[in-house]
Amino acid sequence: MDLSSLLADLEALRDEMIRTRRDLHQHPELGFQERRTAGIIAARLSAAGLEVRTGVAHTGVLGVLRGGQPGPGLLLRADMDALPVQEENDLPFRSQTPGVMHACGHDTHVAVALAVAQTLARHRDALPGTITFAFQPAEEIISGARPMIEQGALDNPPVQATLAFHVTTELPVGQVSARAGAIMASADRFEIVVRGTGGHGAYPHRSVDPILVGSEIVVALQLLVSREVNPIDPAVVTIGMFHAGTAFNIIPPEARLAGTLRTLDQELRARLQQRIGELASGIAASLRAQAEVAFDVGCPPVVNDPAMAALVRRAALAVVGEAGTVEREPQMGADDMALFLEARPGCYFFVGGANPPYVPSGPHHSPQFGVDEASLPIAAEVLLRAAVEHQERGGAKRTG
Ligand SMILES: [Zn+2]
Ligand SMILES: [Zn+2]
Repeated sequence: MDLSSLLADLEALRDEMIRTRRDLHQHPELGFQERRTAGIIAARLSAAGLEVRTGVAHTGVLGVLRGGQPGPGLLLRADMDALPVQEENDLPFRSQTPGVMHACGHDTHVAVALAVAQTLARHRDALPGTITFAFQPAEEIISGARPMIEQGALDNPPVQATLAFHVTTELPVGQVSARAGAIMASADRFEIVVRGTGGHGAYPHRSVDPILVGSEIVVALQLLVSREVNPIDPAVVTIGMFHAGTAFNIIPPEARLAGTLRTLDQELRARLQQRIGELASGIAASLRAQAEVAFDVGCPPVVNDPAMAALVRRAALAVVGEAGTVEREPQMGADDMALFLEARPGCYFFVGGANPPYVPSGPHHSPQFGVDEASLPIAAEVLLRAAVEHQERGGAKRTG
């Protein structure tokens, strides 16, 4: 393919890409409610000549670009949901929907993926293989990727590799990180119900106090992390909810706890799932109570394929140079891009978007979140270059 002509076409779409991002930013939609967003995406993809499937996983959109040359299948994924956050930034394009905000930057993901799709569509005759653009709903609630995969995103047409990016205010604009291996954590929600015997607060010996038992469980769960996990393997167990009781002088019959388990490793994840159950029920039994543990299995760690990460690093080097091509340390946050990457080798890369004090760059999910729009053309060019190299080489090669 003629790279300089591709890059010129991408550059020509720069203003439209920024306008699209601002429009989406003004009209954010929560997970599985992205109807306006999906409508804009579908219209834009259809106009560019892609085959479009809407209503995938409720509000998701798949756009298929069939190239004129033989080649592999690649999937580019962009998540499109916003968050229940009230925007506090003083921007001309601030959110117009009360209590909803693109506070994670998914508006930029959609705008960038659309620009890349439109650019490649103009060169479809020279494009080897097929590229599927997957606009995924409900990433923030880790719920959109699984049904998209179940509804054929990777199979129809067949996909061999996957790419996606996340803009981040943890890196300054001008930096890109495409690290091999596990870069984000698995995430599982669990609930523990502790059953004791309720009674008068003055006569604890006639009751089994589920609050005390639950407290012992909370403390013991941290012993799992400190005494049973290799200290060089990251693991997090956080209890975020502990509900019990109705009055200060009554021992309640029951306590309900809920928490999250995070790891960077599938084997450790399975072991800790088992040990959380064993520990909770063992402690409860030793204190005459009962504990029931239920896991809501979430998603695996985000693991980048080494060859695909190298492919993206080569693209990043061409765009932001040696100084801008960095290796961000793994994060214990989660992303259901993990499911696409578990199914097909791929790379999820980070694009720096912070530029304080000139641009609001508060933390992700905060009312002050914002990104420098100079990150959009960087993300688009890295994605375009990586996609083109992948299609032309017939896959990711372990070179460079
Ligand atoms: Zn987020
Ligand atoms: Zn996000």
